[in-house]
Parts: sequence; C-alpha cells; structure tokens
Amino acid sequence: MTFAQVQGNTEVKRALAGMVDAARVPHALLFHEDDGGGAFPLTLAFLQYLFCRERSGGDSCGRCPSCGKISKLIHPDVHFVFPTAANALSEQYMEPLRRLVAANPSFREAELADALGIEGKNSLIAVAESRRLLEKLSLSALEGGYRAVVIYLPERLNAEAANRLLKMIEEPPPQTQFVLITHQPDKVLPTISSRCQRIRIRPAGAAAEAEFADSGLLDDLMSALLDKDLLRALEVSEQIAALPSRENAKAFCIFAADRFRQMFLCQQGIEGAGQISPQARRWAAGCRKTFPRQALGVLDRTQTLIGRNVNLKILFADMADRLFLLI
Ligand SMILES: [Zn+2]
Repeated sequence: MTFAQVQGNTEVKRALAGMVDAARVPHALLFHEDDGGGAFPLTLAFLQYLFCRERSGGDSCGRCPSCGKISKLIHPDVHFVFPTAANALSEQYMEPLRRLVAANPSFREAELADALGIEGKNSLIAVAESRRLLEKLSLSALEGGYRAVVIYLPERLNAEAANRLLKMIEEPPPQTQFVLITHQPDKVLPTISSRCQRIRIRPAGAAAEAEFADSGLLDDLMSALLDKDLLRALEVSEQIAALPSRENAKAFCIFAADRFRQMFLCQQGIEGAGQISPQARRWAAGCRKTFPRQALGVLDRTQTLIGRNVNLKILFADMADRLFLLI
C-alpha cells in the first residue's frame, strides 16, 4: 500500500513522509481514528515508506520486496499486535488478518473480531503478548533494516501487558518504530499515550472537505488573535458562523486543526519538506508554546458541538473567545 493508494489525509501523509525524509520520526506514533477510519492502511503506507529503499516523490516504490511484504503483512520485521481471545497470541491469527486487510484495509473493530472468529467486546491484549513481543525485539532484525510494531487498539492492553511495554516504547532499540492505532485515546493508559506523538486520522471524506475550506477566514481570525484584537476576532467568528452550511463550518474546523497541527510540528522542530505552510510557520513564532495543543482541544469541542443543534453564531464567538485567552 503506497500513500497514493490511501485516500484523504493529505496533510498527515505529507507530515509522515516529511518526518521520514528528515530522519525525525518519533519512536512511537499514536494514530487516533474513528472506528474504520483508515488508520490501518495509512500505517502500512507509512511503514512501506519508512522501509523502502527506492522511495521517491514522497512515496514508497510499491514494487520492491520490502514494499510487497509489508502490503501483504508478511514482512518478518513488522509485528502486529491486536486484541484476541484469551490465551492466544496475535501471531496465531495472522492469516485471517491478512485476508481481512486484502479485502477491506479500513476494517472496523467488529469486522476484525468477526474475521478472527472471536467475541470482540471482551477481547484483550494479554501479558503473554507483551512477553512474546519483547522476545522478538530482543533479536536483531531479520532483514537487517528497520523493524516495526503495530499495536491495534492499545486501549485493550491489559495493565500488566502495558507496563511491560512502557520501557520499550519509550526507548526502543535502534531502527524500531512503534505505531499504535486507537479509537479511544482517553482509554489508553496515560503512561503509554504520553510516550507517543498523537496524530488524528480523519475519514477520507472529511479530509477532502478540509481541502475545500476557505483559508482566508482562518488567516483573518489568526491575525486578529495575534494582534490581541478580540473585537475583530469576534467579527471573523460571525463570518465563520455565516458559512452556507454546517458542513462548511465543520470543514473550517478541520482545516484550522490541520494548520494548528502544523504549528505544533513547527514548534517541535519536526519539519519535513513542504509540510508546514508559511502561515503556520509565522503563527507558530507569534503564539505561546502551549497554544497549538490547547487550540486543538477547542476546535475538537467546537466541531463536536456543530453536529448538535447549537446556535453557530454563539458557538464560534465562544471559540474565538477561548482562542483569544490561549494565544
Ligand atoms: Zn519499495
């Protein structure tokens, strides 16, 4: 699976490729998707890019032995861990996982449980799984290059299993990449999630909407906020509220979240080729260090409330007011 074969999430793909190009990939990434939201194929595309020796133009070649093995889930140095029935290990279920991914790479939690023939709700990642993983990682990479561990649903790690993995996630052996895919980031043990760089994965449709959003409104809002001009910020918030539909208002939030994420990456010094827009760079220099992260929280809340029947004028005025206090 190449990046080109994964729909949507253009900004995320660019950011991931940029991290690899700059050799600044955090040891552990935590992808937060809605159930079935496409984080799994994106993970495969990212690992293909990381492992591929023939990559070019921001994508893996898709043809070399490494790319082929990763896309078929048969690369000996890419390990998958996911909830299974009690007393079983993920490696025993690789065949059904492969068949599922071949048919439907953006599978949902329940579809995985079905494919494995287990009752999904009670499935866990058990201690034995951590033990097995640590054993595997204590050996050197079979193909002599990168290794990767994909943990699907770290919120299902049993507490002891999680504890055993902490040190490994914090300080993995060289050239070892962790990717965690969660549906409920607040249920992942904080000791685990705090060791990961969190990245929000949007369903493909949402990402496409974001690309249609009107970037001028965000420019106006940010310049009012950076000038400490609350009155002007509130005027811009009225224009956002007056967008033709709730879908447009949502698209604005998604677009703004992308820019705030870029500001965060910029402040962290994670900068790949072309992944950060000039505006985000300028804004990052002018705001508090805490702003991008907290502002993302405000946007998340705003976006959720758009879906309910709230008055958009009041909602966006409130958003502008909160951002004004944070910047
Ligand atoms: Zn390749």
